[in-house]
Amino acid sequence: MVKITIDRPGCISCESCWTLCPDVFEQDSNDDLSSVTEQYRVDGNPAEGEVPDDLTDCAQEAADSCPVTIIFVEE
Ligand code: SF4
Repeated sequence: MVKITIDRPGCISCESCWTLCPDVFEQDSNDDLSSVTEQYRVDGNPAEGEVPDDLTDCAQEAADSCPVTIIFVEE
């Protein structure tokens, strides 16, 4: 299990994370910012998630691609 955090207010909706790793990230329909997909949210918080190990690589790739470096992956 890895922990995902998105500093959502800093998101510029560049589409990179949810394009690279749609299992973990999605565009929130209310504010257009990146969110953790519903199934992996912690306490329903769109900024915080716990994802299984087999999604670590794609989550990390998405984090590395973020132009404003607001995605954090903690193993
Ligand atoms: S990669 Fe970063 S800036 Fe781009 S949509 Fe995802 S969180 Fe937002």
